[in-house]
Amino acid sequence: METVSDREQAVLSAVPTGLFIAGEWRESRSGARLDVEDPATGEVLTSVANATPEDGMDALAAAVDAQQAWAETAPRSRGDILRGAYEAIMDRIDDLALLMTLEMGKAVPESKAEITYAAEFLRWFSEEAVRVAGRYSMAPAGGSRLLTMKQPVGPCLFITPWNFPMAMGTRKIGPAVAAGCTMVVKPATETPLSMLALASIFAEAGLPAGVLNVVPTSSAGALSEPLIRDPRLRKLSFTGSTQVGRKLIEQSAEQVLRVSMELGGNAPFLVFDDADLDAAVDGAVQAKMRNVGEACTAANRFHVHESVAGEFADRLAARLAALRVGRGTDDGVDVGPLINAKQRDTVESLVDDAVGRGASALTGGSRTGDAGYFFEPTVLADVPRDARILAEEVFGPVAPVTTFTSDDDAVALANNTEYGLVAYVFTRDVQRALRVCERLETGMVGLNAGLVSNVAAPFGGVKASGFGREGGFEGIEEFLETKYVSIALP
Ligand code: NAD
Repeated sequence: METVSDREQAVLSAVPTGLFIAGEWRESRSGARLDVEDPATGEVLTSVANATPEDGMDALAAAVDAQQAWAETAPRSRGDILRGAYEAIMDRIDDLALLMTLEMGKAVPESKAEITYAAEFLRWFSEEAVRVAGRYSMAPAGGSRLLTMKQPVGPCLFITPWNFPMAMGTRKIGPAVAAGCTMVVKPATETPLSMLALASIFAEAGLPAGVLNVVPTSSAGALSEPLIRDPRLRKLSFTGSTQVGRKLIEQSAEQVLRVSMELGGNAPFLVFDDADLDAAVDGAVQAKMRNVGEACTAANRFHVHESVAGEFADRLAARLAALRVGRGTDDGVDVGPLINAKQRDTVESLVDDAVGRGASALTGGSRTGDAGYFFEPTVLADVPRDARILAEEVFGPVAPVTTFTSDDDAVALANNTEYGLVAYVFTRDVQRALRVCERLETGMVGLNAGLVSNVAAPFGGVKASGFGREGGFEGIEEFLETKYVSIALP
């Protein structure tokens, strides 16, 4: 553990590493532990309790036991707990950011940005908790009154990915707590520490036992499937790959479970000939390099009008070449490692495929570093339309640039994917912007903007990118049922 400094060790030691079930920290029933690795070095940082399927059922039982009292808790009290957790996170942001960088790899300033974003969901939903309301009206024909009430859906299961270890949790936990739901969270196997730290913050903030239960495990499917098939579970919210999402939707069919799915993306980044190229390059750096390219919203492919493609690619390459790659804890590092060897190998094979078909690397193009899972920030020019990298989610710091000739061509290329999470559009022509935004088959569009994520906006996709929305006014609806009461009043 030579690479781990004293401060890093102190931050690691402060995190509880048990399972968090019914308000208590405990070992798994098997006593097994799960190693957490530093992706910058491949070294084991620490280990956490590795939940068995029986532990998962204990967590569900705790959530079920806590549900009624939590639903009956005053909305203001639920909101105050969220607000307290928000403040505690912001007070400890330096330690939490270091912890996140250790387990996930991205540079500390990026971890801070994620933690701020994550905490904002708790603040936003602390404000929404007191605004859940139904309605009362006279039936159109008179003679009866219509009452609708909003009620919490009940115990939930949340399964979250490693790329945003805290924010993908708080986007679900915030609205669920606000709505009066209890929950079991299964964080990503690679990054359990941020979620365990969050659980301890919630406990300190006064969240009652059983409302939030956290069960890291190396056997995700074995733990989650019995919960999904258990009639006491009322809601599944999943963020992760489309492949796993499909499986979970299938399992959910058995008890017709309410489901929200935030799945993979293949975001097109369109640059029209009238675009402000400075803004487009800035937006491209942000949309590509945020989170080392490991974001579902990452610009996956750059379609640029043929008259500006050469200049755009050269300028993007100069910007990416200037980024410093290294361990995310080091000062001045911009780009950390990828999460693991498998992810690094996937990125490498997509680059090799494109180059093999005639693309050229303007910068980067290879893995780098003696240890860890680093890949150079890369710009590929002249990428042919049949390259795999245009069709598959890259999840790494690689920008393939290809050209289009007309607006119709651009929109057709953008929509030519099973995914539909986000698209980016750079143009100064308002009418073109609106026409293109309307025709894009995505849940979100960045218009002259390289970042769409915002706590007050409904985040989510269409097509194979999933369904349901997180954040905004829509986010809490995912955790509410509408009950209608017909009242006779002759
Ligand atoms: P993944 O699907 O492999 O894993 C996601 C989660 O599911 C993890 O907690 C994992 O342990 C768990 N899991 C894996 N197999 C499972 C199974 N059979 N049953 C139940 N749970 C299982 O995805 P990943 O590699 O961790 O994350 C990257 C993916 O997540 C990308 O495709 C990315 O686009 C997507 N993502 C989407 C959003 C969004 O909001 N749309 C946000 C972030 C990431």
